[in-house]
Amino acid sequence: MVSRVIPVDLFDLVIFGGTGDLARRKILPGLFRRFCAGQMPAEARIIGAARSELDTKGYREMVREAIAEFGGEQACGDEHLEKFLGQLEYVTIDARGDQGWKELQQLVVGTDRVEAYYFSVAPSLFGDIAERLQKWGMADDEARIVVEKPFGRDLATARSLNKTLATYFNEDQIYRIDHYLGKETVQNLMAVRFGNMLFEPLWNSQYVDHIQITVAETVGVGGRGEYYDKSGAMRDMVQNHLMQLLCLIAMEPPAQFAPDAVRDEKLKVIRALEAVAPYHIVRGQYQAEPCNESENPGYRTAVENPRSRTESFIALRTEISNWRWAGTPFYLRTGKRMAARSSEITVVFKDTPHSIFGDEAGRHRNVLSIRLQPNEGITLGVTIKEPGPGGMRLIDVPLDMSFAETLDPDHVDHVDAYERLIMDVIRGNQTLFMRGDEVEAAWAWTDPIIEGWEARNDVPKPYDHGSEGPTDATELLRREGREWRKVKE
Ligand code: NAD
Repeated sequence: MVSRVIPVDLFDLVIFGGTGDLARRKILPGLFRRFCAGQMPAEARIIGAARSELDTKGYREMVREAIAEFGGEQACGDEHLEKFLGQLEYVTIDARGDQGWKELQQLVVGTDRVEAYYFSVAPSLFGDIAERLQKWGMADDEARIVVEKPFGRDLATARSLNKTLATYFNEDQIYRIDHYLGKETVQNLMAVRFGNMLFEPLWNSQYVDHIQITVAETVGVGGRGEYYDKSGAMRDMVQNHLMQLLCLIAMEPPAQFAPDAVRDEKLKVIRALEAVAPYHIVRGQYQAEPCNESENPGYRTAVENPRSRTESFIALRTEISNWRWAGTPFYLRTGKRMAARSSEITVVFKDTPHSIFGDEAGRHRNVLSIRLQPNEGITLGVTIKEPGPGGMRLIDVPLDMSFAETLDPDHVDHVDAYERLIMDVIRGNQTLFMRGDEVEAAWAWTDPIIEGWEARNDVPKPYDHGSEGPTDATELLRREGREWRKVKE
């Protein structure tokens, strides 16, 4: 099975913040991998636009280094790299002033190409850049803009940002990126749900006991301490990434796999989410690694705020008030410095109504696990007879439903989330991007939760470095007779 690479239309992609961390780690190496895959037209241009005083030659060197560092195994050799670098340009620009805008305008206006502008800069600059794109004649109806997270820090700021962008661009020109939606397995989840007869009839409160979504990281806040301490896990992860995963797992089947059909269904899920009671939330802060405090300090030391009440971990229980899901708990959990780096959605089905094998065979549940990282894949736990003599003993075995086992890995084109999403922007496909009303609805659900713990002066519970989070998070499920899936690589 050879994967098909469909070339995209000729484009100019301007990366505002083209010298920044995200551009160097993800966007540019991702574009190079698409180039290697033969997807990037030979005349397409990538134009870095940032504050640094560089020329195009200097920018190409910077990108060469970034690709050497972050390009991954799929980089395709020196000859290709030179060609790719030849497609790069650079403009020194001031998002808040006039410098560089005329030069950029001369490069991109009047060409018969897809024009895409990636705002890989601090959100405080989004409005300035949008305004200048219009002022310099680059915000025509065909232009597309890509905006990074965080999209606001509450409903009011998200609304205001949506309003600002809507002054210059139509909604069908705005691509709000959530890279979780670009992951192969996330799309595979939709294929499994809506491409098979098997699952959809069982996909409801009658057959599903509960659903867990875990995004666990082993890293701490690193160099992002100042930003993170003002944000916390709820704003940084739950409002966007976990919420998007929740939507895809819970939404009704859209009429087509088309942008607004999918996003309408996601929006309905968010609007049906129940408010979360305080006893259904556990917040945590990681502790220093014992005997290695200097390398792995505790959260408060890492963010240089000894009295910080910001959470680096959160676990919560919510429900979706609609016909399909009423009464089914959805447990969400994310945290830093946990036992393993692992993102997983788990659908735990209910017990069979009656065991014909008697009590000694034990009760077994089907568990569908959708792993986003590492080792993307989908596994269904099924119950079978333990082989051999000695009566009817039951065991659970995993049925691997991911392509890695079935398809020849050498012929599968592994595409990183950013690569896929950038190519979707060029194709003009918004299905995997968040719409403005979705983001606002997500904040409308999140805000009262944050306001609640601010009003109560809630102090996060400490948890051990390399653990599964505070013990209260374990209790959150245990008191309802359930267990979290173990966080493991
Ligand atoms: P960064 O600080 O590393 O880079 C910022 C870039 O913006 C630089 O290229 C800088 O030259 C440019 N810039 C700053 N002020 C400017 C101005 N006045 N005019 C023109 N250019 C200016 O930031 P980053 O980590 O690359 O993040 C960029 C965006 O992506 C942010 O919105 C961030 O929240 C988001 N994001 C980053 C990551 C990540 O892993 N780095 C992940 C998710 C989202």
